[in-house]
Formats: sequence, C-alpha cells, structure tokens
Amino acid sequence: MFSFNPPRAFLEGVALDCSGDIAFVSHAHADHAARSKKTIASDETIELLKARGYKVGERHHNGFSMLEAGHVLGSRLLLAEKDGTRALYAPDFRTDDGFTTKAAKPVECDELLVGTTFGSPEYVFPERMQTYSEIQKWVAAEREKGIVVLGGYALGKAQELIACLNEMGIAPLVNEDVAKVSDVYRKHGVKLDYLTPDGAEGEKELARNFVAVLPFNKVNSVLAANLWRLYGKMVHIGLATGWAGKRPMDADRVFCLSDHCDFPHLVEFVEQTGAKKVYTTHGFDAGFARCLREKGIDAQPAFGR
Ligand SMILES: [Zn+2]
Repeated sequence: MFSFNPPRAFLEGVALDCSGDIAFVSHAHADHAARSKKTIASDETIELLKARGYKVGERHHNGFSMLEAGHVLGSRLLLAEKDGTRALYAPDFRTDDGFTTKAAKPVECDELLVGTTFGSPEYVFPERMQTYSEIQKWVAAEREKGIVVLGGYALGKAQELIACLNEMGIAPLVNEDVAKVSDVYRKHGVKLDYLTPDGAEGEKELARNFVAVLPFNKVNSVLAANLWRLYGKMVHIGLATGWAGKRPMDADRVFCLSDHCDFPHLVEFVEQTGAKKVYTTHGFDAGFARCLREKGIDAQPAFGR
C-alpha cells in the first residue's frame, strides 16, 4: 500500500509528516509540522501546533485509524486498511509509559513504515524510572548549593521533567515556550505544576534557590554564567536527551532520557507487528533495515539508500 516518491511518503494520497494537499501530522514537533490544505491529526496535536504558532489546514478524517504513539502529547501512529491489507506508519514513538504519555502498542500489519532515529545497536536506554530517580537525586543535592536548570525539548521532554520535579514537591520555573506547550497538556488533563517568572509566585521563587525547566537549546554554560552574574549563586545545569554520552554536551550533568524507542525496543516493536514488508526512515534507516534483514525480515530504507 505504501509507495514512495522521495523525499515524500504517501499512503493512499496522504502526505506523511510532510507537505501535501492532505497531510497526516503525527505530532507537533517542528520536523513533523507539515503544511497542508487538509490535516489529519489528533485534537491535542492540532492545539499544540496552533500554540506553537503553526498554521493548520482544515481538519480531515478519511477513515484511517490513529493510535497512541507514546512520544509526546497527541502523538499518533497511522493505520490504514484496504482490500484486506494493513499498513502502519510509526514515525516517532515509545513503547513504555512516561509521566505524561501512554505507551505505543504494536498492532498487526502487512506493511510497516517505521522511524529509526535511534535504530543502531549502541542505543540502549536505561529504564525511564531509573533516569527519573537519578534526576531527582541530583536536583535535591544541587539545590542545596544553588540554582538548578534542566534542559529538554520544549514539547515532550520539558513536561516529563516538570512532572518528575512535581513528584519531589518542586514546581519549577519555566519560560514562555515551555509554558504555552504545558498549558495544552494541562487542558488535556495532564497534571503539571509550574511557575512563570512574571507571576507573583514566580518572583518569590526567583529569590530562592530555584529550579527551572527550559528548552534544550537555551541551557548551556553561557546561561549558567549569566544566571550566576544575575543572582550571585552557584548554577548547576543538566540536560535530558537520548544522545547522552554519544554527542558532546555543554552541561554539568547529562541524563539519558528519550521520547523515542531505543534499538532493542524498535526491533521488538517491528517483530510484534508481524509486518511482511518494512520500510525504514530517519536516523539509522539503512543500518536498521540491514539488522532486520539479518533476522529474516524483508526490510529496506524508504528513500532508496
Ligand atoms: Zn518527535
């Protein structure tokens, strides 16, 4: 059912996370926010796209099923069924529960187009709850000494970090980018407690050894130096990313936390779908397809590598 017209994948005339007349937007991360006249997406994704300043085409429903992807609020997989053949599009997903997301569940299909961001054997993530407990211990210790800033993507990771801090009784300060996304989470029933610096409570918090959650690209040694100059306190910065230990990071501490599957979970997901034909896309698409072929699964990169 899949046919490919690089660099766009079409599923029965639907553009998958890329521009087209009718586009399926799996979730509201910038690299998936496609322009289209008509948009297939969850309610949460539509609201997040609008909150983040994207134009959204008219809502469209074509009978395809959208399934939980466990990546960020509103993230979905797309399942299409025609003439007894089932095709599943699974771009960014995770197969265990987080504080703010429910796990993606594999469904049986004939053809699968799967995202392979971390589709290489060296990517094996620790248990998510183990990482959360490391973050909590680190924050508790460093907060005794000064200011603590955690960085993660404004959509998804930041809300997991807020929930992680809420568990230890901390309502972190957040900036506008994180607040406007978190407001949508709250609206959809996710309990998150955070402060913005412009409110009375936020101002009071700034006078203490505060904890902040900011977008990943804003958290670095320059920010730490600026905060130190401004508040005259020690500043400790931590980052949360699946690339921990694999890429250089400008932080005191880097925690391995991803909203994607690691390699073993990707393989497990593919096997559990029972797909007879697998296409891979993003990240380690060629290498992951090769690993699947070694297991006897018919697999190839979607875009002719
Ligand atoms: Zn994503």
